[in-house]
Amino acid sequence: MKKINFGAGPCILPQSVFDLAAEAVFDFDHLGLSILEMSHRSQAFVDIMEEARSLVLELMDLDASTYTALFLHGGASQQFAMIPYNFLKKSAAYIDTGVWSQKAISEAEKVGRVETIASSKEDGYKSIPSNIQIEHAYDYVHLTSNNTIYGTQFDTFPSFDETPVIADMSSDIFSRLRNYAAFDLIYAGAQKNIGPAGTTLVVIKKDFLRQVNELNRFKFLDYNAHIKAESMLNTPTVFSIFVSLLNLRWIKDRGLTSIFSENQQKASLLYDTLEKTEWILPFAEPSSRSSMNVTFTIPDASHAALFDSYCKKHDLHGLKGHRFIGGYRASLYNALSLSSVKILTDLIDEVNTHV
Ligand SMILES: *Cc1c(COP(=O)(O)O)cnc(C)c1O
Repeated sequence: MKKINFGAGPCILPQSVFDLAAEAVFDFDHLGLSILEMSHRSQAFVDIMEEARSLVLELMDLDASTYTALFLHGGASQQFAMIPYNFLKKSAAYIDTGVWSQKAISEAEKVGRVETIASSKEDGYKSIPSNIQIEHAYDYVHLTSNNTIYGTQFDTFPSFDETPVIADMSSDIFSRLRNYAAFDLIYAGAQKNIGPAGTTLVVIKKDFLRQVNELNRFKFLDYNAHIKAESMLNTPTVFSIFVSLLNLRWIKDRGLTSIFSENQQKASLLYDTLEKTEWILPFAEPSSRSSMNVTFTIPDASHAALFDSYCKKHDLHGLKGHRFIGGYRASLYNALSLSSVKILTDLIDEVNTHV
């Protein structure tokens, strides 16, 4: 019995993607080879890489003459280091909206001067800071668009005038319509809406590359080296990139507009149910709530036990909150259907009749 997976990542992907991926493991495109044994230099894989890189730009409505897309290793976490390594010269501005931003800040501090220009630490990261101002020039400003652990999300982004903007979009990329052209660098670990764990998407504005530190010593940490090698500086994560391509095609077929609208319906249905349920407390402030990760607590232990037993009975998986904040978290990534969210909200209503 397939469970309904509300896990935060690695996460649910469309069933058709699982099916096609499984097929390719046995025989890729009738070539008589498994995708797992194919050379990354084969024409078949070069085509996969090129289609994936261009589909990313197409879905983001970005032009290949101004932006370039890379599939790198190391997860979003390696980008925490690679970004300052390449772009931090005098000082960088960071917005602190929780653990992932803080990890990015702590890596950048090893490279140069970092100023935290806004933070929601004071309220336990239940919100996104408002009135974010840039006071002077920085090499770049960094933000986390969706805070997977706390369930907060930038609905719109502040304007930073001339300062280049970098965003960790690991957990909400391709979940809604965004003006991606407002960013100079966007990165995301694949395992939450792009594909399976293993690869990391990095999209860079070509103009911004002029700012790269010339003192780079490590080739593997140099964006320009990866671009020059067409995202194949060494053996790429072949399978992860292939399955990501399958998922990107699925996103294109459905269209970002319709995905966005379904994601909004899913989130409103769940938040409305949480709001009207007395024994459940939503975690994030209403104005900062994420449409991807919905966090809540059930303060009464007997209610929590009853809710847990219903989830188990209905094969709902992955609802446990992150170990840092506890409670519960329902992740509503693209492949999770509205009807799956309805199963959760019906279950909450059912528990409600027993408390
Ligand atoms: C999951 C996550 C990360 C970490 O990603 P890795 O690929 O495991 O390094 C970073 N930032 C955000 C917002 C995340 O959700």
